[in-house]
Formats: sequence, structure tokens, C-alpha cells
Amino acid sequence: MKNQPQMNHKKPPFIIPIFLPHQGCPHQCTFCNQNTISGTPSRLPSKSSLTKEINKYLSFNRDTKKEVQIAFYGGNFLGLPLQLITSLLDEAETFILSGQVNSIRFSTRPDTINHQILDQLANYTVSTIELGAQSMDDQILTLSNRGHTANDTFRATNLIQEKKFHLGLQMMTGLPGDNGKQSIETAHQIAALSPDFVRIYPTVVLSKSPLAQFFKRGDYNPMSLEESVKLVAKIYPIFMEKNIPVIRMGLQASDGLEDHGGILAGPYHPAFGHLVFSEIFLEKIKIQLRNEKDTTGRHLILHVHSKSVSKIRGLNNQNITKLQKMFQLESIRVLADDSIPKDQLTMDISG
Ligand code: SF4
Repeated sequence: MKNQPQMNHKKPPFIIPIFLPHQGCPHQCTFCNQNTISGTPSRLPSKSSLTKEINKYLSFNRDTKKEVQIAFYGGNFLGLPLQLITSLLDEAETFILSGQVNSIRFSTRPDTINHQILDQLANYTVSTIELGAQSMDDQILTLSNRGHTANDTFRATNLIQEKKFHLGLQMMTGLPGDNGKQSIETAHQIAALSPDFVRIYPTVVLSKSPLAQFFKRGDYNPMSLEESVKLVAKIYPIFMEKNIPVIRMGLQASDGLEDHGGILAGPYHPAFGHLVFSEIFLEKIKIQLRNEKDTTGRHLILHVHSKSVSKIRGLNNQNITKLQKMFQLESIRVLADDSIPKDQLTMDISG
């Protein structure tokens, strides 16, 4: 790999996203509508508009210690004709040669990965490849019209890791035919592949997606937000146990999603990840309180990292209200203590 820069895992990179909605896609997967997700039409950027877009991001006020990455998202990057792949990479590479950008990343389908294309990429400063695995259950992949199998993901993962690119795997929950068990099994299988990071996307019904037709006919019922949060709260620890960072849970809020009826139904929330962390904290507290003989009328103090205070409280203090009611507590206080790791808590109960 050319001049492979050292990744700084402590600080997330500064990403310059270049959306290529549906470019390189062999067809439209059942759940997908990248125009809605990204709020941009399906077209490849011209050389001048690509340069302009990258320069726009480079002009932003930002933490200059962060690695800068140009990211080609929203399509099937390696499904593009080779000439287009190389022309986009050539353009991105000029920013690397000028020292303004550190590396390139992109998302692609597992069935686009082979030795030849990875050897071509070695001529560029590509650091990270993200694969849309979505599910490791072949039946669910078929129902989502993915056109690839779980075996393609295994094979692609091995090749990418062999060539020492950083690997991200994306999975989805709530796909047609998935009752939650398959998502949990998918998470175990993905964790066993030891990717460098994962993203978890709950399925939502996007307008103008094939799934929207299923939904309108009554052939697909999305998970509720509550069910989906509970499911992802079970999946997240599967990755944590293996020290695999989950860098995203839920679709990123965008104008395309939030305006003009972009989402017809399903568990979309702009702070989905926050809801998942709140649920995980709630479950941890419930388990500990159930070990107490009697909690009625007692005072609970929760100690957490300052960055986790809002997560433990839940949106609109929901966790506090639920706990108070469920365990008949007299009071609950949340105290910040930055000596506690962000995903942990300690508690005192008195009275
Ligand atoms: S999921 Fe990926 S391959 Fe399928 S239509 Fe969307 S961008 Fe294209």
C-alpha cells in the first residue's frame, strides 16, 4: 500500500465526504435509496466540482491534528468502471501529494473485492475500505435483493485484511425476514472477522426504495424505534467484548432524510446512538438494583463520566423516571466522575 499513513485511532479522522449516490451499483437493493440518504442526485462529480468540494471542506475550521480523509460514499465504489475509479483516485491523490489530505477511504460491496482490484489500489493512498455486509444470513440477503452472499463477505474480508487495508463492516438490523435473532448472529459473525470498526444501521423505509412498495402493500413491517433500540443495545456489547469500535449507530441526520417525507416509516431517530447508550446504561442499572433486597424509599447515586451523564439520564430524563417508578426509589442523583470509563458506572444506594 502506497505511503500508508499511521491511523490515529484516538481521534476520529476529519472526513471529506464525496457522495456518489448509486454510482457503481449493479441494481437497487431493497432497502436503499442513497439520494434520500445523502440528499444529492445520482451523478458523478466533474473534476472541477470534486476539487471545489474538497477545497470547501479543507477551508473549514477544524482540529488540524486529525487525520484528513477523502471518503467516497453512497455507492458501490469498486463497481464503477476502472477508468472512473482511477480518475477519482487520481484527483484525490493530488490533495495527498500537496500534503492537505492524508488518505482515501470508500465504501463498496463485498462482491467487488478481488486480488486484481486490491493490487490496483496499492498505487494509491487508500487506507480504509468499508464493506456493506448488511447481514450474514443468505436468506435475508436474498430478500433484500443484495445479489451477494455471506461467503462473499468472508472472502472479501480475508483479502482486505491480507493486504492490510483498514476494514470497516456495515450491518443492518430489521431487514425483511430478520426477527432480531439473525441480526445478533450476524453481529457475532462480523465480530469474529475482527474488522477495525463497524457501523450498525437499523432498516428504515426510505421513500422511492423497493421496500417502500413492500411497506405500502403491507408486506413489510418495520421495527418500532423502541424495539430497534433494544436490539442494537444487545448487539453493541458483542463488538465491545472484542474491542471493535462501533463508529455509527443509525443513519446520519441529513436534509434528504428529515425533509420532504424521505422516511416513510421505521426506527429513525437523529440521536439513535444516544438512545442505544441510554438503553445499555438502563439495563446495567436494572441488573444491579435487582440484586438489592428492597429499594423502596431509598436514595440512589449514580457515578459516571461527565460525557455519559446525558446518556444515563436518557432523553427527557426517561431513564430516571423509569427507574424511580420501577424500583420505588425516593431519589436518584447522577454525579460526574471522569475517573470512570465512559461506558461504565458505579452506584451507591442508601437509606
Ligand atoms: S445498498 Fe449499496 S449496492 Fe445496494 S443500492 Fe445501496 S449503495 Fe447500491
